[in-house]
Amino acid sequence: MIEFNEDHSQEMRTHGERDYPFECCGLMLGRFDNGRKQVVETYPISNAREEEAKRNRFLIRPEELMRGEKYAREKGLDVVGFYHSHPDDRAVPSQYDLEHAWPTYSYIVIAVEKGQAADLRSWEMEPDRSRFNEEEIMTR
Ligand SMILES: [Zn+2]
Repeated sequence: MIEFNEDHSQEMRTHGERDYPFECCGLMLGRFDNGRKQVVETYPISNAREEEAKRNRFLIRPEELMRGEKYAREKGLDVVGFYHSHPDDRAVPSQYDLEHAWPTYSYIVIAVEKGQAADLRSWEMEPDRSRFNEEEIMTR
């Protein structure tokens, strides 16, 4: 289960709309609390992919991830998950997303249809890496 507030949700949606028709991505910083993730803030990251590939794949450069982790540590927080958008596609992780994911983290996918943020869903990878399971979102 992942817990965040309306502002976090709005920030991720707005980021997805801003980067449309490309994918946006970012981190969710917060705390792990007995298997539950509590988001304290979102951390937008630009999409690192080449222009032509931006439309359907997200990638966070290692140095950007390190910068985000450092920022989180300074605030006493952890990276609890990642978010990215799917322009004109469903809020469901792709095969590519599965192949580039790690267990434990939350993966939020925001569907952006014709420039408007629609569905926002959270996913967690099965420990054997075979698939994603939808994760419950609790909005504070
Ligand atoms: Zn994706």
